Amino acid sequence: MKNFFISDSGDLVRKADCKTIRPHFAHTYSRIDTTRQFRATLRAGSYAWPGGYPMHFVFGDGDACCFECARKEYAGIVRAMRDGYDSSFRIVGADINYETPDLFCAHCNALIPAAYLDDWSVIVGNIGTVYTGNNEEYARDVFAQDYSRTRGDSVTLMRGEDIVSEREI
Ligand SMILES: [Zn+2]
Repeated sequence: MKNFFISDSGDLVRKADCKTIRPHFAHTYSRIDTTRQFRATLRAGSYAWPGGYPMHFVFGDGDACCFECARKEYAGIVRAMRDGYDSSFRIVGADINYETPDLFCAHCNALIPAAYLDDWSVIVGNIGTVYTGNNEEYARDVFAQDYSRTRGDSVTLMRGEDIVSEREI
């Protein structure tokens, strides 16, 4: 690959003349009909852009498959896609797990993380949202900070739509 690079838009580009050799070389296809689309989606990686949400593959029977298994079982999956009859091993798409807390890879049983469930936020009374992101430890630190100048208000630690903890200042 040293004579080529992958552009920001996912095209394979030749270094010598910056010519696009393979458009959509690394690209997330939400609907996958061909092994070429499967490969491009694998190359694009397990985090959606933009947003950074965790992605997984979807088998023909609706089961989820983590990226790691898709890489490991690449040959078998490609065979199933070409043959077309084993729907339980044929990949038909890639999806974001927005908020299913118990979605597991049908192959290795790994938990497929949910994007919104990992959204932590800290809201301070009349200041507003002071943190939002997926770093739980940092969110808890922010929650525990001294907000004495807003005495009488409350600080709320949220995960997704749920209140994890709340305290008066
Ligand atoms: Zn897996």
